[in-house]
Amino acid sequence: MGKRAQRMRRAIADRAQMDGRDAYRCDKCGRYTVTVAVDKGATPDRLGCRTTSGCDGYGVSLGMPHPWPEGVPTEPRWEWYRPDAAALDRLRRAGGATWAHVEAGGLLIRRKGKAIT
Ligand SMILES: [Zn+2]
Repeated sequence: MGKRAQRMRRAIADRAQMDGRDAYRCDKCGRYTVTVAVDKGATPDRLGCRTTSGCDGYGVSLGMPHPWPEGVPTEPRWEWYRPDAAALDRLRRAGGATWAHVEAGGLLIRRKGKAIT
């Protein structure tokens, strides 16, 4: 197992938190991207800003806080998910960073409630 996979596995253990919600505070615009993990797996500490249109900042994870901090939106707009078997197969064939991430236990992100990324 590589160092990256070990880090992720630790992250999974560290984040065994009740409802899987997290928020990423953008380092540029200061707004929050709120996410929820709908499958078991690792989520990253940083995430490109998805809240302000055109913002190229990065959100930094609040670490699945409990209790949820005041002033942070509570409704997740994005969800972390594990690709299904067919999607995994496509990713494996495509290879690259996304496959390495998923193979190491990482989840992918999509708009909440959408079936396809
Ligand atoms: Zn931003």
